[in-house]
Amino acid sequence: MAADGAVDQECVEGYLFARSPLRVLLVRRPPRRGRIWVPVSGKVDPKDRDLASALRRELAEETGLDESRSPVPLDWSVRFEGPDGRRWRLHAFGVEVPSTFVPRLSREHDAFAWLAPERARERLYYSDNREALDRLLEVLRDQASTDSTSPVGRSSESPPQAVIVPRLGEALYAALREGHHRKIALQVPAGLVRNAHDLAATIREAVGVPVVVASRPCFGACDFPSPSETPGVDALVVLGHAPIPNVPLDRTTYFVEMREAGGDPDALAATVQAGGVPPRVGLVASVQHLDLVEPFVAALQKRGYTVRIGTGDRRLQYAAQALGCNYTTAEAVEHDVDAFLFLGTGRFHPLGLAFAVEKPVWSIDPLRGELDPPIDRGQLVRRRQLLVATTRGARRWGILVSTLAGQNRSPTALTLQARARARGFDAELFVSDRIDPRDLEGRDVDAYVNTACPRIALDDSDLYPRPVLTVPEFLMAIGEAPLEPYRFDTYH
Ligand code: SF4
Repeated sequence: MAADGAVDQECVEGYLFARSPLRVLLVRRPPRRGRIWVPVSGKVDPKDRDLASALRRELAEETGLDESRSPVPLDWSVRFEGPDGRRWRLHAFGVEVPSTFVPRLSREHDAFAWLAPERARERLYYSDNREALDRLLEVLRDQASTDSTSPVGRSSESPPQAVIVPRLGEALYAALREGHHRKIALQVPAGLVRNAHDLAATIREAVGVPVVVASRPCFGACDFPSPSETPGVDALVVLGHAPIPNVPLDRTTYFVEMREAGGDPDALAATVQAGGVPPRVGLVASVQHLDLVEPFVAALQKRGYTVRIGTGDRRLQYAAQALGCNYTTAEAVEHDVDAFLFLGTGRFHPLGLAFAVEKPVWSIDPLRGELDPPIDRGQLVRRRQLLVATTRGARRWGILVSTLAGQNRSPTALTLQARARARGFDAELFVSDRIDPRDLEGRDVDAYVNTACPRIALDDSDLYPRPVLTVPEFLMAIGEAPLEPYRFDTYH
């Protein structure tokens, strides 16, 4: 394609987005190119038929997206001087992709992130990228005004949204009122069940619609009440969790993340240094303490620390975030650090993190200001390997499958079944929504492999009548994988 008279080089950029909830895909350039967040972009080749086909080619090369997608021109372009001193012009497009799309990055980028539009805007490095993103949102808003199925609309007829609210209070009530819901269900984690009744009353009074309490506390961040457990409810309020971007929602769900304001970053950094934490650390935090990450990093840097924060895969909403089944934010920076520091309370995440990475995991409680020494990973792993060894004589395997949207790995279960059978084992699938040890009593099964939440096998296996292994452990047990290196069962 020929460049026009005033321009030496035409370029294209694509803002990939997915709906329900609306998310924008950004990619990160590697250190030699500044580690900045950008959309996918590239130069138009003379052999490209037009701008759209140039973008399709770039997207295929840089994200693995198949070329059948139709880029929508945003009628937005910017001129600038290219690195070669010539006159370049960049044209922006929006490209809708399924919410299940996972980019396959080329060497041009070293990370990707699916982000809510406002987060994407914060992260984009160039102001013209931010302008183009604003233009995309404008186009989507225009569509929303003429198309009731658009993700931008907020009526109760819209597809389910994930609405994020930092903490309980007026912002939540205002969002609920704006949603015009008929009936709301409140779900709380086990630690807050005592307060659930009063919280429901407060929400009911502030919003003016019926609120019911989901009587079953959530098992984890991916476990919401089903429509049959909460009939007539058109919105959920979930306390204590962030959305999991790759878990589909059946109703608009308000995630009250219960962000904590507390914690003195300077005092915490002093404690870290006095405790002997190595100077190159990766930082991982629970959702509740993510607001403290930035000032804490600054305080650590003032004391000479190099702190790395990783971006995880599509199961994680935020950089640095920990999820019990997914520590890809840590794995992304493991090669650059000597230790990890977990910012949060309790042992659940430090234990999971210790399984997932091979570097020492320290943890600091931001509220108590106490630093816990590293967990003995070797001991954790040896205990699991011993359990694997006890199943070596098992001939009859039960493969546990959960039908919960955020825990359903049916394709994995079928693959495991085929692999076990090919090696002469008897392997049957056991399917239910929630995995409950009482349902497995009295069965003629030697051992189980759990394809649902991986923490069931790691944390609760003592409750089960037979050994329960994770997926990688099962492959060890049937001789398909070596015992070393031990692999955490990351739920992607
Ligand atoms: S799979 Fe388990 S650890 Fe992961 S989000 Fe669900 S409940 Fe939490």
